Amino acid sequence: METKIVIAGSDAHKYDKSDWDIAVIPVYLNAQDLPHTVTIEQVEAMIKYACFAWSLRYVGHTLHYKGLYHSVHKPGAVVVTYTTGDVIYNRYGQRTAGLCMYHYRDWNGKKWVMDSCEVYIDKAARPVADDFALALMMHEFGHVCGIAGHIDEPGHVMSTGRHRNYILTLRDCQALDNWNPYPVALNRDFSLSCPSVDMPDGHHKWVDLPYTGNHFIHSWEIGRETVWEKQIACNNVTFGDLVEHQGQMCQRLHMADVQGLDLKVWADLVIAPNGRVILRHAE
Ligand SMILES: [Zn+2]
Repeated sequence: METKIVIAGSDAHKYDKSDWDIAVIPVYLNAQDLPHTVTIEQVEAMIKYACFAWSLRYVGHTLHYKGLYHSVHKPGAVVVTYTTGDVIYNRYGQRTAGLCMYHYRDWNGKKWVMDSCEVYIDKAARPVADDFALALMMHEFGHVCGIAGHIDEPGHVMSTGRHRNYILTLRDCQALDNWNPYPVALNRDFSLSCPSVDMPDGHHKWVDLPYTGNHFIHSWEIGRETVWEKQIACNNVTFGDLVEHQGQMCQRLHMADVQGLDLKVWADLVIAPNGRVILRHAE
């Protein structure tokens, strides 16, 4: 089949209206040329995390890791290939640590319909499975989800340059054609991303909760808060009555849908007078 090949982040902004026409997008790893300092399992873990984190927000599509594949391109699928900087340079004409190449099938009147994606990671630029490598994997998977361009300011997954932002921000999600603000994300560092919180003062916010817990208690502090206009009603995160918790009067906080890589929980939390969010019960 003839497909039109476009590279995300360069000429792809001209084709920003692009999307898949399949609900489940299969993802493979071409591990023939991995750096010696990273295992297949470590790369698979990063791919599975990127599939999870983007699928949580990407309305109408799920990215599903299927296993190993011995080529850089598979029709109807995404293939992640570790390779040399020269291979990437030959395709892109610039030095870059990662690359996402789209194969468009056709224009359906509204969008370019995606057939497949080739994702390349420079093995010398990302030799180990650290936060920088995960941030790059997350970035390339943002392109896979049809985000053809970048975010100009720093601090986001879809920002350019070398960075370690692997946790999706409001602006990353808004770069999707359509995104789901309902679930709370339990991130790899145990922080919580609450995209849609109706505050008692009437504001509607995205709230990040960095993890502050230890062996004895699961707790979070209230981090960055971003006010935004929500489009749909969202009641995942709700405030309850005052309740006594370990000798202090606290406000109850419910999260009906908290999703991590391998779990989905209902969480009963409280906000202590010092502002800490403490987990009382989860199931
Ligand atoms: Zn990019």
